[in-house]
Amino acid sequence: MAALRRSDDQAAQEREFAHLRALMVDRHVAARGVKDPRILQAMREVPRHLFVPSVVAAKAYGPGALPIGSKQTISQPFIVGHMIELLELTGSEKVLEIGTGTGYQAVVLSKLCGKVFSIERLNDLALRAVEIVRALNIHNITIKVFDGTYGWSDQALFDRIIVAAAAPEVPEPLLQQLKRTGKLVIPIGTEGSQRLARVTRVGTSWQVEDCGTAEFVPLVGRFGWKE
Ligand code: SAH
Repeated sequence: MAALRRSDDQAAQEREFAHLRALMVDRHVAARGVKDPRILQAMREVPRHLFVPSVVAAKAYGPGALPIGSKQTISQPFIVGHMIELLELTGSEKVLEIGTGTGYQAVVLSKLCGKVFSIERLNDLALRAVEIVRALNIHNITIKVFDGTYGWSDQALFDRIIVAAAAPEVPEPLLQQLKRTGKLVIPIGTEGSQRLARVTRVGTSWQVEDCGTAEFVPLVGRFGWKE
């Protein structure tokens, strides 16, 4: 009887979280301009509260960025949806993500493309992300600890590259690891003054579009900001 009650409680809690996620998507993602129904659905499904530290779990479905430890943050839900929309995924792509953080964005991506390769510079964050990805039974994400400004040469070329930390400029290795007609989305600038750039490879050159303001932690590495 007690076991039955516990699973009833659990089911009720799952329903509550699903409800909060639906509200988050309506109010903080769709209402701010993200339109792709596949992205909105993926964000309705991924249990964001499992990715954030328990002290901020109550705010997991709010509009803001949240601290995740090691002086890093998980991005606001709108920015995650917006950046993924800029990638124009069709479902089969091989995607490189720089800045795994909690793994939340990697998991949203994993539902919208073929394979995700994600690089995190900080061991503790990467380990935790690997654990959550495993617990969720997701098999198309590979995470490694490295300086992501070098890209992932063993796995290149990529159809898409998404960078979740702000760089002084687009790291050259990332441009080299992008397929012809590939797309790369990256925040460029200093803390407090960043623009989101979408770079599209057109044969041997690149076209850059300005896609609005951004607010990310710094991309620290050989082709990023120095420590
Ligand atoms: N996408 C994440 C949030 C990213 S926060 C999520 O969904 O939770 C930015 C992350 O980039 C931080 O975890 C930071 O440690 C990482 N980072 C910064 N510079 C990096 C680099 N050169 N290579 C890989 N990761 C880096």
